[in-house]
Order: sequence, then structure tokens, then C-alpha cells
Amino acid sequence: MSVIADIVSAIRGSQLEIIDLTAPLTDSTPVLRLPEPFANTINFQLEEISRYDERGPRWYWNNIHTGEHTGTHVDAPNHWASGRDGIDVSQIPLRSLIAPAVVLDASDRVSDNADFLLEIEDVVAWQSEHGPLPDGGWLLFRTGWDARSADQAEFLNVDDTGSHTPGVSPECARWLAQESPIAGLGVETVGTDAGRAPELDPPFPCHERILGAGKLGLTQLRNLAELPVTGALLVVSPLPIVGGSGSPARVLALVERAV
Ligand code: MN
Repeated sequence: MSVIADIVSAIRGSQLEIIDLTAPLTDSTPVLRLPEPFANTINFQLEEISRYDERGPRWYWNNIHTGEHTGTHVDAPNHWASGRDGIDVSQIPLRSLIAPAVVLDASDRVSDNADFLLEIEDVVAWQSEHGPLPDGGWLLFRTGWDARSADQAEFLNVDDTGSHTPGVSPECARWLAQESPIAGLGVETVGTDAGRAPELDPPFPCHERILGAGKLGLTQLRNLAELPVTGALLVVSPLPIVGGSGSPARVLALVERAV
């Protein structure tokens, strides 16, 4: 029996469940908002070309207007100055795009501290319970933040002091970049870094360290609660934008279920 035939049969027989981790793309999909004087990305938008009308009587189609970093998306190493000589989004190795994923769940600690930062000790404690992080795979950081993803204000959680969303400490970002075997870090928030990341040292430590090490970011994931702690297979499909710094991506997880 071929491996592919086994997979097809497992999907049809529900031993392999496909879980969609992607946020839907609409003009109200939350996007990052940087403070003055920085430039911002546009919201996702459809521009109708024709819809069964005089512009095209039998067909409907749109142009899309989007940032590379809109909705569920991949950050390529060249997104950040520390990774500027690294690969672009079209060059990401395919074996990083279909790779094992594990889930570290900190949602209980984020629920009473929106500024929660993941520390090295948290990952080490996770490893002592669940084993090593996947070599060439993904660490998915669950925070429960996907529950806010329908609303830009709740999702960015901005007050007078800035944005308050969970992230990773500078030390842990360095450790994930340099000492862990992962290909990338996936999060439920608008970016891989915490809302307060501009104040950290270095600022935006996940971007600085993880992209700087040639690794990847993956944002605005949902439905991580449906994944097992270990054992899921992630399928990430950014567009091959030549020279691009990132891309919206459909992200699916394959999960084994007892039938
Ligand atoms: Mn991004």
C-alpha cells in the first residue's frame, strides 16, 4: 500500500482530521497598527472586475488588495533587518511548510495577564512533559487570543499605554532562534511579538532573533485548541511572492483521531 493511498484512506475514514487554522480574509480581518511615524499595511479588500454583468456576462472575479502581512500569514526571514540577507517568502523550503507541529498552551495564564511573555523555563517545562520540540517543525503558542480575532479593537487590545497582547520574552526568543531545532514559531496574535514588544530589549525580539536566525513566523492562527499537544502535521501555504517578505497563507493541520 502506498503512503499516499494510506493518507487518502485515513482522511476519508476520518482517522485523519483536517483542521483549518486560518482566519477568514475580509475587509474587517484585523491588521497590525503601528504608531506614528511608521507606515502601515492596508486592510484586505476585494475589487470586483465583473459579476455576470456587462463587464463579463458569464463570469465573476475580483482583484485582491492585501498586504503581505494580512490575516493568517507567514513572516519570511527577510521581513526583518536582522534577516535582510536571508531568504524571501518564495524561497522557504517546502519541508518547513509541511512539517510537524506541537502546541504549548499558556491560555490560562494569558486570561489574567494580556502582557504575558513566554519564558525559556516554560518551554523547558513543556519539554520535560512532552519531549523535545520538533526538529524542523513548528512550535505553536496557544494563548486563547483567537477568541478575539473577529474584532480589530479586541484583537489589538490598545489603551493609552499601547497594545496589550501576549508574546515571547527576549531571552526565550533568542533560545528558540538559536538553541531549539524548530523551523518556526506560530501564534494566535496579529504578530509573533507581544503588544508591548517595542519596549523590550531588543524591541520585537521574535522578529529580531527568530527571523534573524533564518527561521519563520506564522501569525493569527485559530483553532489551536483542537490540536493535540504533539503529533499534528502542519500544512502552510504562503504564496510564492518573489522577493516578498511574507504572504497570507492557508494553514491546515492534519490530526490523527481514534475511530
Ligand atoms: Mn508579519
